[in-house]
Amino acid sequence: MSKYYTPKRTRNLYDPSSKMPYKLSRSAIELFMECPRCFYIDKRLGTRRPPGFPFSLNSAVDNLLKKEFDALRANKEPHPLLKANGVVGIPAMNDKLDEWRNNFKGVQYKHEKTNLLIYGAIDDVLETPSGEYVLIEFKATSKSEPITGLTADHHEGYKRQVEMYQWLLRKNGYKVSDTAYFFYCNGLRNKKSFDKKLDFEISLIPYKGSDKWIEEAILTAYNCLISDKLPTAGDDCDFCAYRKAVKSHFQK
Ligand code: SF4
Repeated sequence: MSKYYTPKRTRNLYDPSSKMPYKLSRSAIELFMECPRCFYIDKRLGTRRPPGFPFSLNSAVDNLLKKEFDALRANKEPHPLLKANGVVGIPAMNDKLDEWRNNFKGVQYKHEKTNLLIYGAIDDVLETPSGEYVLIEFKATSKSEPITGLTADHHEGYKRQVEMYQWLLRKNGYKVSDTAYFFYCNGLRNKKSFDKKLDFEISLIPYKGSDKWIEEAILTAYNCLISDKLPTAGDDCDFCAYRKAVKSHFQK
């Protein structure tokens, strides 16, 4: 048995006959959008995709930026990068912030029609003088070219991520701006030597989101969960291509 991976679990499975709300993370909805079959195999049958290695450096950047925002919050000061770009607002004071940032809690909303408890953990949020919330999302990478926009394929998932947070906060009664800001940190590769440090360039990328797709995505994911039929697989998936290639070796 693998030390790192449980191929079949019996806990936290969706049970269509249960009356209890079922916790569904925003990343599970993202998985559903990528491949309903993988989502179903995870949530109904208990086998999740093998995890990748944790992104420890990304999470270090994330933690440090959160501390940076917390220090500014304590002093009610704006972040210099946002201020320099004309964004008005200071890190929001909200008693629920720790909960909202907790990966197992996050911002939660019970979707009555489906009895699903949708949740997602945010990075940070600003409050403008008019009391509007503005989502802040931290991302880290290391590319040779400067990051100037959200144009790569995988950025579509980043956009849906902040749209889901915007939706969750709205459903919790907050007034939320359509515009979110990505702090995109790029680890510079063009230094002479490592010298025990990695320098970053931060691009501030505004993104105007729309949460119009979310209601339908939740309803379709729900219909998938309550069905007894295994959904079709996505057709552009490395995991399945690998699985099929391995299987073919044993069919010769
Ligand atoms: S196509 Fe990929 S994502 Fe879908 S079931 Fe196969 S492995 Fe999972």
